Amino acid sequence: MGTYARQNLVFERGEGAWLITPDGDRYLDFGSGVAVNVLGHAHPVLVAALTQQAGKLWHTSNLYRVEGQERLAERLVAATFADKVFFCNSGAEACEAAIKAARRYHYVDGNPQRWRIITYTGAFHGRTLATIAAGGNPKYLEGFGPAVEGFDQVPFGDIDATEQAITPETAAIMIEPTQGEGGVNVASAEFLRALRALCDKHGLLLILDEVQSGVGRCGKLFAHEWAGITPDLMPIAKGIGGGFPLGALLATEEAAKGLVPGTHGSTFGGNPLATAVGYAVLGAVLEPGFLEGVQQKALRMKQALASIKDSHPDLVEEVRGQGLLTGIKVKVLPADVVKAAIAEKLLVVGASDNVVRLLPPLNIADEEIAEAAQRLSRALDRLSATAT
Ligand code: PLP
Repeated sequence: MGTYARQNLVFERGEGAWLITPDGDRYLDFGSGVAVNVLGHAHPVLVAALTQQAGKLWHTSNLYRVEGQERLAERLVAATFADKVFFCNSGAEACEAAIKAARRYHYVDGNPQRWRIITYTGAFHGRTLATIAAGGNPKYLEGFGPAVEGFDQVPFGDIDATEQAITPETAAIMIEPTQGEGGVNVASAEFLRALRALCDKHGLLLILDEVQSGVGRCGKLFAHEWAGITPDLMPIAKGIGGGFPLGALLATEEAAKGLVPGTHGSTFGGNPLATAVGYAVLGAVLEPGFLEGVQQKALRMKQALASIKDSHPDLVEEVRGQGLLTGIKVKVLPADVVKAAIAEKLLVVGASDNVVRLLPPLNIADEEIAEAAQRLSRALDRLSATAT
């Protein structure tokens, strides 16, 4: 179907940060399948995890215990605030599960009238009917009938507006600690701490959507760790599967209490193949030194992008980012930058607010960062040349 405005590019193989076309052309991948391939392409540890599992067992459904799912859940629980994990296949499903969990929590608490959720401008939580309503982007809502009820949107980063939006019907606050699709907007640590305090004061659940910002992308295992707070519910996806479709909702025991048997489910969620890969990804990201490495590379990226901004003041307005979720705000159409980068065999991703995202694999080499910076610089030179 015509749901995507695709580039006319096809890749046959991947090697680390490189994607290779059938003709052998090599592209430097600073998109990572939109923040997914945290270990790059065809990482031997992930290939081994998947192929070993493929020879044993693919799928049994959630009618039975799934060993690999239990193993991954235990590791996620050990590494985070969470006590409970629900597995699904994508970010939108993980966000839907969070929305349902928040509503059910208040329902079983004797407060069924508390079902509304405060969300933020620039938010992106997926493309299901509930998650487009949560995101509130008119472009994604148009033509799909009445928006799912129950979302109250306030400006990103505005604590007063958040407090004013709380009513006796409010169940939760839902936010991405660092927005990706919305244009790489980093919520300040102070704002996130204030949200935690507001939730505690009013008995609300704090939902942190770490679908894009999580699994090392922002330099910590999860971005909220920079603020020293914990959520009650946290949808994740993208990076945790390293390229294999996998999502999850992480929760405290208390926040998960509404989701009793029969209230939610997924046929494929957390199947043996997906969780075998997820376990291997998490193991790699939790290796000693890995996240420090991401932070060092993030610094290099920031320096490289800052010097690109200095050398292209006509095109680059601002450098944004946290960890390796980085972006440049440009003064032309992001799609034009994406196209010019493709001409230099560099892959980058557009975002709202005139931002172009650079989302390399988290194990990117320093030389590859330097190479990407050169290619981006040449791409911007092309644009400058056509503008004059
Ligand atoms: N939440 C956030 C923060 C995202 O960035 C995305 C996807 O970009 C989603 C949810 C939806 O994830 P998916 O496309 O896997 O449904």
